[in-house]
Amino acid sequence: MKEIYELYDNIYRAIIPLRGNPLKSINIFIIKDGDEAIVVDTGFNTEEVLEYTKNYINELSLNLKKTKLFITHLHSDHSGLAGFFESNGAEVIMPELDGLLMGDMRKRDGKYWKRIKNFSHIQGLGVDNLDINDHPGYKFRTREAFKYRPVRPGEHIKIADYDFEIIDLCGHTPGMCGLYDKKHSILFGGDHILHKITSNIQFWGFQFKDPLGKYLNNVKKVKDLNIKHLYSSHRDLVLDVNKRCDEIFAHHSKRLDEAYHALDDRPLTPRDVTIRMKWDIRAKGWDDFPDSQKWFAVGEAHAHLEHLRYLEKISYLDKDGDGVLHYFQK
Ligand SMILES: [Zn+2]
Repeated sequence: MKEIYELYDNIYRAIIPLRGNPLKSINIFIIKDGDEAIVVDTGFNTEEVLEYTKNYINELSLNLKKTKLFITHLHSDHSGLAGFFESNGAEVIMPELDGLLMGDMRKRDGKYWKRIKNFSHIQGLGVDNLDINDHPGYKFRTREAFKYRPVRPGEHIKIADYDFEIIDLCGHTPGMCGLYDKKHSILFGGDHILHKITSNIQFWGFQFKDPLGKYLNNVKKVKDLNIKHLYSSHRDLVLDVNKRCDEIFAHHSKRLDEAYHALDDRPLTPRDVTIRMKWDIRAKGWDDFPDSQKWFAVGEAHAHLEHLRYLEKISYLDKDGDGVLHYFQK
């Protein structure tokens, strides 16, 4: 497949490889109208991704001074080159909530990383002695500050024959948003619904209540919109969106079952529930699990436990009075 090609009228797709990353590549979408353009997401802040970026900018003759960069969510494979776009004259636009969280993540001693250490403690990960320097979110965080215009769901961005509504797709991150054009039934969905792989849903702290519940509601929302053209950030494009939504519901219902039954015989910490769940990763057991993946796996198991707690099927207690949470069936 060509690396840069026209996908739909005035909408281009540039496929940028992410070497050494299980996501394999990122799809950058560019909507053009004369010398104006909207670019959706950027890829990591690396020399290699920058080369690919300059390449599509050249090939599509983009004028960055007349370009808007829309960042779907805070992750560094989506926002890494925001500083490059901004310093070359583009207007950066990003969901308000993810923008605030990101400002905090950029700092080495930011509140965000203190919270991650605290999550590890309450999740029972203390015994694994993980080092924050190995956390992929920390290692690859976007380091440069950049100016951006914060946006909220319900606002519109127009270009060419398109009228994009910014829609809330939170779940994968607390503030992720997509661009939805009703007339053409097009959705730029970030990491919300992906082909073959499922979006990673994490525990983000108790103030962001039930992320998995919000995620599933937003999958239902997309299914109800009957999207014909879903443009997602990784892997191949999803051709049958409603079928993919049903597969995602089935996947999480199986995972919720697994998490629930992990608690059949006794209360467990999110870490110990994780150990009892099955993971698509080549590791013989928990000790063999790469440290960098332990946070994600436990965060994901925890999001499932929290959803079960919102459904009032389970609850938690601080059994030993040390702040480590043990979940149990009601
Ligand atoms: Zn992401």
